[in-house]
Amino acid sequence: MRKYSLRTKLSLSYVSVVLISVFLISIMTNLLLDKHFKEYVIQNQKRKSEEIVSLVSQQFKEGNEWNIEAIEDICVNALGQGMIIRLVDSSGRVIWDARLHNNSLCEQMLSHIERNMSSRYPNWDGSYVEDEYPITHKLSKVGKIIIGYYGPYYFNDSDLAFINKINRLLVVVGLFSLLLSLLISSIMSKRLSDPISRVISTAQMISKGYFDDRITEQSSTKETAQLIETVNNLAETLENQEALRKRLTADVAHELRTPLATLQGNMEAMIDGIWKPDTERLKSCYEEIMRINRLVGDLEKLARYESENLVLNKTSFDISELVRHIIQNFENDFLNKGINVEFFGEKQTVKADKDKMSQVVINLISNAIKYTPHGGTVEIRVKGLHDATEISVKDTGTGIPPEDLPHIFERFYRADKSRNRMTGGAGIGLTIAKAIVEAHKGKIQVQSKINEGTEFIISLPNQ
Ligand code: ADP
Repeated sequence: MRKYSLRTKLSLSYVSVVLISVFLISIMTNLLLDKHFKEYVIQNQKRKSEEIVSLVSQQFKEGNEWNIEAIEDICVNALGQGMIIRLVDSSGRVIWDARLHNNSLCEQMLSHIERNMSSRYPNWDGSYVEDEYPITHKLSKVGKIIIGYYGPYYFNDSDLAFINKINRLLVVVGLFSLLLSLLISSIMSKRLSDPISRVISTAQMISKGYFDDRITEQSSTKETAQLIETVNNLAETLENQEALRKRLTADVAHELRTPLATLQGNMEAMIDGIWKPDTERLKSCYEEIMRINRLVGDLEKLARYESENLVLNKTSFDISELVRHIIQNFENDFLNKGINVEFFGEKQTVKADKDKMSQVVINLISNAIKYTPHGGTVEIRVKGLHDATEISVKDTGTGIPPEDLPHIFERFYRADKSRNRMTGGAGIGLTIAKAIVEAHKGKIQVQSKINEGTEFIISLPNQ
């Protein structure tokens, strides 16, 4: 299928709308003009005839005298307008006859009108007609006047000039509208097509892998502005995904390197006969394999939460109830480690993804248990604020060094590497917690003092 640019299509539609409008207006104007003008001309003819009759009547004087000079003036003037006048007195004497006065002028006038009308209106069915009017003086008839003209109507020169003027005006308006429409259509189509061309070139760049390209153009057209925003969002998502993919690959490689190097070293030593493959050594190798296994498991979890945009299945529920339930599930762990647990919270309804929020609370509580020594306390609170709900998990544990605090939400970040390797954490629990809280448009903050304890505070906005 042949494709046309937006600019061509817009220009064509503008121009065709203008052409059709001008054409319709011209036809309507001419039709209306024809109808009303004809009526007007017929009325006018009647009025002029009556005027002439009245004027001529005034030229009659007592004793059958007529003011010939004035009558000649009136009749010559009427001849100029296409009327051929004959005045006869009551005895049948011709007082004035246009044909007698100047027959060739009369013929000229009539043929001029006929030529004009039949050339302009081929269907004109006019013919020469004569109307007779009586001339009265003091209520008695003193003569008659015969007015001959082309009936039922004809246009004299000034009528035709008027019609021509209107048609010329229509042509000028048409041409002007056409030029104006070309100008407006080229401005409008440029305004519409420029941002779209930019969207196309950006989308092409994105498809080539240049995810940092953005459309800076502004558009006052709603759809175009939405398109620009969508393409920019798409580019940003792709850019984030790409950065995430790169970081993830680097992180995974980094995390796998240590256990694999240990495993390789141990195996090589055993193959070379330096170490005997006894239970102790095999157990150490097994532990490294378990570590890799855990890492792969964690990676799977992380991929679920991070790679895709988090899809939330929001419901309304009492978050205090949920937290209380989780604490109950951890009861054994608290007992085993000899940690005292305290919970403060009243009914607080939130609209959130219940499963994902419980994952967040589980991560925070299990961290608190992991990093709090025997005899410590973990205090959990649910608080309803004016526009948010706060959930805090506070422990009297080891605390986090200030230099590590800004990084603990990063993937695979562990404050104390050696010790955390022992606790088995891969450093993604907080990453997942943060991703979930932020997907709920909430915030997660941390306050910690080394050897005093740590407090994590989640704030969920009330929607
Ligand atoms: P991990 O699986 O290692 O616990 P997290 O993402 O849950 O990973 O935590 C990242 C790091 O933050 C931990 O390795 C630990 O150093 C620190 N951390 C988290 N919670 C606490 C806490 N309650 N007390 C002390 N340190 C903590």
